[in-house]
Amino acid sequence: MKKLVLGAFILSFLSACNSDSVANQNEEAENKTNTGTTAARMCPSEEIRNKALQSNPELMQKFVQLEASTENFANDLKLGKVLADGSVEIPVVVNVLYSTAAENVSDARIAEQIDVLNKDYAATNTDIGKIPTEFQSVSAGDTKVKFLLSKVVRKSVTTSSWSGTTDAMKKSSTGGIDATSPANYLNIWVVGKIVYGAGTTLGYATFPESSGLWNDGVVIATPFFGKTGAASPYNLGRTATHEVGHYLNLRHIWGDAKCGNDLVADTPTQTGSNGGSPAYPLYNRCNGVKRSVMFMNYMDYVNDAAMYMFSAGQKSRIQSVVAASGSRAGLRVL
Ligand SMILES: [Zn+2]
Repeated sequence: MKKLVLGAFILSFLSACNSDSVANQNEEAENKTNTGTTAARMCPSEEIRNKALQSNPELMQKFVQLEASTENFANDLKLGKVLADGSVEIPVVVNVLYSTAAENVSDARIAEQIDVLNKDYAATNTDIGKIPTEFQSVSAGDTKVKFLLSKVVRKSVTTSSWSGTTDAMKKSSTGGIDATSPANYLNIWVVGKIVYGAGTTLGYATFPESSGLWNDGVVIATPFFGKTGAASPYNLGRTATHEVGHYLNLRHIWGDAKCGNDLVADTPTQTGSNGGSPAYPLYNRCNGVKRSVMFMNYMDYVNDAAMYMFSAGQKSRIQSVVAASGSRAGLRVL
């Protein structure tokens, strides 16, 4: 019964996406298209996913199962059936495709990026103290997910520009690097520039229903990877924090729709994405209710320095996919 209800929700969610008003679509296109010289955060992961789900019934079935098991896990946690003890360590493979010396990111910069992931997911980031008092009680704390660099694969190529639509960077037959055992490793591809639609994007990720598939993993454009030498205001390694969030089943905090649903109860509903560095408190009104929104969440679009927290509800979703029964249970350091 639960599955049926969830399925109905998902169908209505997808049809709501399709029936967005023209004005809304135009507004979104403006937000997502980034043709100027100044980079702006834009992440098409959910949009890419929707296209894949709508054209692939098998993937849609996995998506429905994923959300059902996520909901079950959250209920089990509430009932005390699952003990959220111990950490999961995820082995990481970084695939570097470079056509210039600057794109060939150093081992030190890769280590720096892994360190950012470990700090952000453990809530030991130096800016964790900035969480406003009203959100401290729903802060995730340690998500109990750690990251260990297993391997760096480097390949000299002749282009800086890679399509976020074809995933060419993820296949050697199209000039890229094949994923290393994607059911067992988090693969991250670092490429000079990611072209998506009419613009470019900082990064994108696959969600857990793609676990183990050839294209499973995270892609990040070189200027937004790591810290040293990265491009302000996305130079604190948080593009990876955000994209790995998707990889571990987190949605954008506004649910990719006006006053949308991110399937997390403790993140206040907000009208849309936030950019730049908003001043706290920032109020949004949805369905007549005014709320202070959690723009400092890693799953919003704000600058790297303006994001510094996951919520407890997001932690529950993360833990459900890496748990022994979860869709990413294969990710273990052996
Ligand atoms: Zn995103």
